[in-house]
Amino acid sequence: MSNDAQPRLAIIGAGPVGFEAALLCAARKIPFSWYERGQPGEHLAVWGHLETHGAFSTLVSQAGMEALARAKLTEWLPSPGSQATGKSWVEGYLLPLAETPELSGILKSGVDVVAASRFSSLREDDQRTGGFLLHLRQGTAESVVEVPAVIDCTGVLAQPRPMGRGGISAPGESSCRDKVAYFVEDILGADKDKYAGKSIIVVGGGISAASAVNLLAELAKSHQSTWVTWLVRREDSLPVRRQVHDPMPWRDKIAAMANHLAARGSGNVECHGGCWIDSLRPGNNNQGVVVTASVKGISRSFEADRVVSLCGYQPSKQLTRELRIAFDPVLDLPPTGLLPDPVLSPGPVTSEPGWYTIGSKSYGRASGFLVSTGYRQAALALARELDGKPLKRRAS
Ligand SMILES: Cc1cc2nc3c(=O)[nH]c(=O)nc-3n(C[C@H](O)[C@H](O)[C@H](O)COP(=O)(O)OP(=O)(O)OC[C@H]3O[C@@H](n4cnc5c(N)ncnc54)[C@H](O)[C@@H]3O)c2cc1C
Repeated sequence: MSNDAQPRLAIIGAGPVGFEAALLCAARKIPFSWYERGQPGEHLAVWGHLETHGAFSTLVSQAGMEALARAKLTEWLPSPGSQATGKSWVEGYLLPLAETPELSGILKSGVDVVAASRFSSLREDDQRTGGFLLHLRQGTAESVVEVPAVIDCTGVLAQPRPMGRGGISAPGESSCRDKVAYFVEDILGADKDKYAGKSIIVVGGGISAASAVNLLAELAKSHQSTWVTWLVRREDSLPVRRQVHDPMPWRDKIAAMANHLAARGSGNVECHGGCWIDSLRPGNNNQGVVVTASVKGISRSFEADRVVSLCGYQPSKQLTRELRIAFDPVLDLPPTGLLPDPVLSPGPVTSEPGWYTIGSKSYGRASGFLVSTGYRQAALALARELDGKPLKRRAS
């Protein structure tokens, strides 16, 4: 398909959901533009060494698998029932998809979409029609483009939530930035030197924090002076809340294993519940970091070589600042532009027709997003935009 014609819409982000939107646009033979700040699958690559939580077959779409089969590019696919890693999801699925005749040459990698607005109105103006203006930045080059509609698939991983009390940055958090990891690094592999034999503070009580604790406990088996201080807000003796009938069995295993380590105090793990982080400061002679926290109301200081802060992620509001995109005040759920639905469109109804926010960003700060939801959202957004499906349910 030639994509030289004026784009009918723009897709922002080349994670799995951006890829799905692109495949569906290609299937409908509409010209579209597609921008990615980094490389295809940039966010998956950040945690590429970790295993996914569901079988590989749950990470892919029918459109994607058919495109790969047509192009005979299936040889790198992990087997359907296997537990892929972030890396094999990118290398086995997304990168080959980028080479299919449908998508080849369309994605503009290294292009950051820094801001968006209406082409001919300000946010204050009531007229919400006409195209959108996107401000693009590639290195030092900047430009603007106009497009009739936009599908925002930019995810949440680039905006980690800070670790301080009340969810804001703790004093000293930014000045200790070089001693803090905001995602699970490759603790047993490429980043091992930062962790082996070191004293590590892990902050957070979700699945990512549980993964980090499990990996550090594994490392402590071969590097016995590795010590893990796990600081969690929950007061429960079990730091990670397990989901009854979790649809992703491997995720529950991670939670169960970390809870076991915390409860037994084994694996060189000491866990403190009822914790609020008050401040961070560099250690003596600028070595390591000292975290001061209130633990069940008593102020305590913990020294460490490195902090792993895993307090969740949140959507960027910067991109759509000049649009009428009002995020839900509790979970930062953006309007998707789709019909209200607890799974497919949990956020508010949109006031900005033609702008769709789908994928993990559509779940704001909430957990529980599945990529299969993003694939369905992509199909619904295109149906709404191209076939004019009604935005609101008709009264029955
Ligand atoms: C350890 C782990 C295991 C997981 N296992 C599963 C699983 O089994 N099943 C599952 O469904 N999910 C799983 N997930 C979650 C999974 O990563 C998300 O479901 C998926 O990445 C969501 O895809 P997305 O396309 O919405 O967003 P992302 O993958 O986050 O992609 C967003 C893309 O947008 C780009 N971008 C951001 N801002 C801009 C901008 N301004 N301009 C241009 N480009 C931009 C980013 O660089 C990125 O490439 C797991 C996550 C982790 C960490």
